Amino acid sequence: MFEPLCAALDAAGIACTRNELLADHCTFRIGGPADIFIKPCDEIQLCRAVAFCKEQGARYYLLGNGSNILFEDAGFRGAVLDLTAMKTGIGMKENVPGEEPGVVYCNVTVGAGMKLSTLCNFALNHSCTGLEFAYGIPGTVGGAIYMNAGAYGGEMKDVLTSVEYLAADGNIVEVPAAELDLSYRHSIFEENGGCILSATFRLKKGDAASIKARMDELMQKRIDKQPLDKPSAGSTLSISAVCGATATAGLPSAKSTAVLWSTWVAQLVPMYWHFVMK
Ligand SMILES: Cc1cc2nc3c(=O)[nH]c(=O)nc-3n(C[C@H](O)[C@H](O)[C@H](O)COP(=O)(O)OP(=O)(O)OC[C@H]3O[C@@H](n4cnc5c(N)ncnc54)[C@H](O)[C@@H]3O)c2cc1C
Repeated sequence: MFEPLCAALDAAGIACTRNELLADHCTFRIGGPADIFIKPCDEIQLCRAVAFCKEQGARYYLLGNGSNILFEDAGFRGAVLDLTAMKTGIGMKENVPGEEPGVVYCNVTVGAGMKLSTLCNFALNHSCTGLEFAYGIPGTVGGAIYMNAGAYGGEMKDVLTSVEYLAADGNIVEVPAAELDLSYRHSIFEENGGCILSATFRLKKGDAASIKARMDELMQKRIDKQPLDKPSAGSTLSISAVCGATATAGLPSAKSTAVLWSTWVAQLVPMYWHFVMK
């Protein structure tokens, strides 16, 4: 059934595998095989792969770091696009205009497949402050924007200035953050089916030692309070509470829309009461 799609991908030199186990690509470590697992190496390949899926009528799913999803044991019928396979660049523009007088602002532009931790370390290495809250949130830049990820009083909305994405109609558009409907764990991408390609963040020049101290402090809080060595998709109950659902019943709807419940026995562990673990 997927032969024409595989042939098109092969002809375009886009790497793909059949029956890739999704458990190997998400932090819950649960999930059966994807019919096709596509690994675009850059934005051009990603856009072509999406176009091929549409042409062939294949259902597709955009996968970041897999830190906020739960695939079902039966796997995924269609194509999963692994955005972490993309080689992502990162660039910085200093002395950009900003609101506060006397403050030096920088714009950092990064590909959607880059890990948040890499972005945070880049900011630290350039003495840029604003992203400390995100250090320790597992995931990619694209996945974090998709759900306006946040922690410890910060969220992507605070530092994001614009996003370039592949729209459902096949056009690439750049949109200011103000038009992305960013709110608590929500963005417009949950509705519009866009594929985030890159993002620009506005950061302030700061003191590297203070930035590092804050990153270390927040990471230590996670180590102390979260079961980071166990398979999970992070905090579930806090989000479920917003959705008005109970813990287990709420998980599929509270997490990504592509999330599907699993026959694996997930446990609520008292010490980490808001984490559901495999
Ligand atoms: C131990 C642990 C701690 C966590 N702590 C936090 C926390 O403090 N705060 C918090 O907000 N979250 C937290 N999370 C959840 C998770 O880290 C975030 O939701 C993260 O932003 C998910 O990014 P990802 O790349 O893993 O996305 P994925 O899980 O791969 O995907 C999530 C959704 O984003 C979509 N998506 C991914 N990339 C793109 C793209 N480029 N374009 C369009 N759509 C895309 C996917 O299709 C999917 O619907 C935690 C998770 C774990 C496991």
